[in-house]
Amino acid sequence: MNDITHRSNLPSVDRLLRDPTVSAMIEEHGRPAVTDAVREVLASARGKMAEGAFGEADLAALPRLIAERLERSARPSLRRVFNLTGTVLHTNLGRAPLPREAIEAMTSAAAACSVEFDLETGKRGDRDDHVAPLICRLTGAEAATVVNNNAAAVLLLLDTLAAGREVPVSRGELIEIGGSFRIPDIMTRAGCTLREVGTTNRTHLRDFAGAIGPETALLMKVHASNFAIEGFTAAVSDRELANLAREHRIPYVVDLGSGQLVDLRRFGLPHEPTPQEAIAAGADLVTFSGDKLLGGPQAGVIAGRADLVERIRKNPMKRAMRIDKVTIAALAAVLRLYLDPERLPERLPTLRLLTRPKAEIVAQARRLHERVAKCLKGLASVEVIECMSQIGSGSLPVDLLPSAALALRPEGEASAERLAGMLRALPVPVVGRIKEGRLLLDLRCMEDEEEFLEQLSVVPLGKGAA
Ligand SMILES: *Cc1c(COP(=O)(O)O)cnc(C)c1O
Repeated sequence: MNDITHRSNLPSVDRLLRDPTVSAMIEEHGRPAVTDAVREVLASARGKMAEGAFGEADLAALPRLIAERLERSARPSLRRVFNLTGTVLHTNLGRAPLPREAIEAMTSAAAACSVEFDLETGKRGDRDDHVAPLICRLTGAEAATVVNNNAAAVLLLLDTLAAGREVPVSRGELIEIGGSFRIPDIMTRAGCTLREVGTTNRTHLRDFAGAIGPETALLMKVHASNFAIEGFTAAVSDRELANLAREHRIPYVVDLGSGQLVDLRRFGLPHEPTPQEAIAAGADLVTFSGDKLLGGPQAGVIAGRADLVERIRKNPMKRAMRIDKVTIAALAAVLRLYLDPERLPERLPTLRLLTRPKAEIVAQARRLHERVAKCLKGLASVEVIECMSQIGSGSLPVDLLPSAALALRPEGEASAERLAGMLRALPVPVVGRIKEGRLLLDLRCMEDEEEFLEQLSVVPLGKGAA
């Protein structure tokens, strides 16, 4: 190697910027970004030179290093991924994948749009108007309003109806949802006092009855969505709680968590309480998420009695939780799909993925097996295995869905972690899960096989991986 040991042999920033290959980069990335990249590459070259590890070849490679650096920093950090974790509604991977109808509606609403403008009268409109009629029609509620997410919906509801007063909640429902949403904390923040009633596993109607006093603002049930208590248990039904609340002239509200709007049994899935069931059983208000089983964008829905919804809408805090126009467009599009439940499993990705039969996933795994094995030759051996997927986002926590995976067993130097890193470095990152030294790619959510295979065979694996 012909060592270049003098810093003076390195080109200056200006000279590199005049290099035809480098100056061509300015067109695409802009001068400030290219200048930064040139400075950074030169700094690291100086470092190498000080160690005596810089040769002619390194000098010639400078433009390529600059190009690579620019590509890396131009790449957004928020990227589409293949979710092969086996968790369909993965909170860290964006929960529900949206249907085509919603994506088109979002694109259209991204421009100037009639979000708070009544096109008939030319007067001011209300953003709730785009979704509230659909929510009412689907749930049987009198009125509805929407905010940023379900955590906001619960906070706003409590702040409006229970600030400064008491709310009895069963000890079995004092839940924490991933990412620090805890019912007791939300209650404190909403300025109300939690009255714990019953025990962790058993709560009776008389426990609630005994807790109601002049300070009680409302009765609340929280759907224990992300765990199940089994064995010697008792909980009070919606109807009983609704009747008790009515006797005391206070509202009964239910935080459902997941807002599934159709009975999942219809599609062979386990049952999850629906807003319409809670409302029919006497709930005055329900709250639920837009991006859990509902399969829509991140949003929180509050639906029920018109007078209560009106009070909530007037709370000045609602402005701080306002839902964005693009989200409203997506939510409206998803809700419209529910008007035709027959075709829902084809059109709504969440339901389509949850209802994929195991046989179909196994067949897909067999189809992909050989080609994936070929791409990973020398890195991992590949096997088709049966596995269990889960719904995720705290929905139906104990119900697992039979599925199939490609199990990658690392070979030679590779480890499962390193393999996982390589797959994450692909143009469309692939995210699996590591289990007992193998990397499992659960195929339940694999919808674009061709794209997956193409990038696997075109991109040299191992490049760019840690
Ligand atoms: C998920 C969940 C929440 C929080 O909903 P986000 O939409 O994630 O804010 C609140 N309550 C229950 C019961 C939940 O399951």
